[in-house]
Amino acid sequence: MSDTHTPTLDNLSHETRAFAPSAEFVANAIGKPEQYEAAKADRLGYWAETARKVLTWDTDFTEVLDWSEAPVAKWFADGKVNAAYNALDRHVENGLGDRVAIHFEGEPGDTRSYTYSQLTTAVKQAANAFESLGVAKGDRVAVYLPMIPEAVITMLACARIGAIHSVVFGGFSADALRSRVDDAEAKLVVTADGTWRRGKPSALKPAVDEALAAPGHTVQNVLVVKRNGQDVAWNEKLDKWWSDVVDTADTEHTAVGHESEHPLFVLYTSGTTGKPKGIIHTTGGYLVQAAATHRDTFDLHPETDVFWCTADIGWVTGHTYVTYAPLINGATQVMYEGTPDSPHQGRWWEIVAKYGVTILYTAPTAIRTFMKWGRQIPDSYDLSSLRLLGSVGEPINPEAWMWYREVIGSNNGANGEKKEHPTPIVDTWWQTETGAHMIAPLPGVTATKPGSAQTPVPGITVDVVDELGQSVGNGEGGFLVIRDPWPGMLRGIWGDMDRYKETYWSRFEGMYFAGDGAKKDEDGDIWLLGRVDDVMNVSGHRLSTTEIESSLVAHPYVAEAAVVGAKDETTGEAVVAFVILQIEPAEGEDVVATLRAHVGKDIGPIAKPRHILVVPELPKTRSGKIMRRLLKDVAEGREVGDSTTLADNTVMTQIADSMRK
Ligand code: ATP
Ligand code: MG
Repeated sequence: MSDTHTPTLDNLSHETRAFAPSAEFVANAIGKPEQYEAAKADRLGYWAETARKVLTWDTDFTEVLDWSEAPVAKWFADGKVNAAYNALDRHVENGLGDRVAIHFEGEPGDTRSYTYSQLTTAVKQAANAFESLGVAKGDRVAVYLPMIPEAVITMLACARIGAIHSVVFGGFSADALRSRVDDAEAKLVVTADGTWRRGKPSALKPAVDEALAAPGHTVQNVLVVKRNGQDVAWNEKLDKWWSDVVDTADTEHTAVGHESEHPLFVLYTSGTTGKPKGIIHTTGGYLVQAAATHRDTFDLHPETDVFWCTADIGWVTGHTYVTYAPLINGATQVMYEGTPDSPHQGRWWEIVAKYGVTILYTAPTAIRTFMKWGRQIPDSYDLSSLRLLGSVGEPINPEAWMWYREVIGSNNGANGEKKEHPTPIVDTWWQTETGAHMIAPLPGVTATKPGSAQTPVPGITVDVVDELGQSVGNGEGGFLVIRDPWPGMLRGIWGDMDRYKETYWSRFEGMYFAGDGAKKDEDGDIWLLGRVDDVMNVSGHRLSTTEIESSLVAHPYVAEAAVVGAKDETTGEAVVAFVILQIEPAEGEDVVATLRAHVGKDIGPIAKPRHILVVPELPKTRSGKIMRRLLKDVAEGREVGDSTTLADNTVMTQIADSMRK
């Protein structure tokens, strides 16, 4: 029991469903219960064994973890390893050169497949080309590309020669690109003429031109991939076509091992809670955890599975579960350039059927969008190839989880047949900072619960603590922390080690503070409850945004919901909800009253929103996360804060307009 001086989050949800894996799934599962036991008995031994299993090291390591300079960890420090060799060459050497590594599907419908041999050659050429442009080990390369194979090729070519990539999401502005180029002091920028977006060409190169127009940058070359063929302005001093430099480069290139702690990349967080942070990841530990979690969480059988992670390479999910882990594990994956509604709302399901995708990994925001569009769309495709579904990025509302299971995970053909055993769903909690999955079920071991990420992956020690840093009991909520250093952990914030210590290591002594609220249920399983910055304090009760949002989303009227706490004279804070409706309410019905009553009945009177505002859209980051801090600004009548990573700049005006009505 928590005492009154250490308030924890109130536990509001009553979700109790659980789904055990089928006997058949258990029998063939990659992840085994013994892994938890082995990791518990000897955590570092477990990681050492895993490191040697999932990677081929040029030089073996003798020390697993060096924590003497905490909070900066060194993992496998005297080992040497090359990421690109592990992702490519070794599979070719092992006779898997003809296996497809990437099935690329362009938005206009053009396709390209790369076998492991072909991808290896392409990366060798890019590595030679980058070196010929003066890029050496330790130099930084900014990557501003759409979701095309050249993005993966560029990242792996950097990794091969030890250059540090900094991927900037292709949707970001010239300003955002310039500030990231300057911050990293990038020598080379790799971009494209443009891409395709909702059936129309969408330019990229002009943003690079604009970003580099003002002098004072460090860029020596801009490599331009020809993708959509649109006209581009040409800067003779900087610009070079990829086709001239890379495609003509030598196809032989020997990969050498880099120190395990050599930086692999810098990547900015999504900016959901504030100014994005440039997160530094290094090589060995990151790759080990990436590959191991990809194998275990997704039950990867690389000989037969077709994996599809829908994330853009501009996010950490695209780094870990598109570029690195699937290729290190020798998997076949799908990569799609465009939006889910182009040219029609069934595009994703068409792709699943076309390539026989077996494992699909996406975000709750996408699932809620598909729910809004209606089940008749996926129902008209054959999704029988799917055998595992994953979720990442935000807490998944139980309602969305159940829809994912019933509509996508049970589909056994376009004629309405149902699978006898719906596919398991794995909800995966992690962050840019953690590098790879931290909390996720093992699909062949865990009975999965709708809305919960449940258990730390083997070898990871996660806890939920109160304000004093004491573990909370089952049934209680608090702050999510990580107790022990882990292989994929960030090694700092680029150029700002003080901010690193301040942000993650100052809240609780000796523990990494994730910034998220969480609770343990009666079985000790972990449920993510949203950002602690967003926790609301209503008359002394600490309420989570997630639980109230999930309750709203469970009502048939509501497609999406975002909840914030707004200052209130009597209760401290009041719950304010912003909702997008999915069906027109009945004539004369007071939607707000209906929804308030629904939340009151579903989780209790304390959680009833004081105000509910029906809005046309919600502010989201480009990675699909709801930016509650902007809504809080609206609810409290302030000017809205930093919105540079907002996907659609008009959303906040739309919301303001809808409130004036
Ligand atoms: P910033 O740190 O700049 O505010 P961000 O936290 O959104 O941005 P990311 O690293 O992309 O940047 O996102 C990590 C966060 O996403 C986690 O801290 C968590 O809040 C949320 N998250 C990711 N996966 C899950 C999940 N499965 N369940 C609940 N929350 C999740
Ligand atoms: Mg964060």
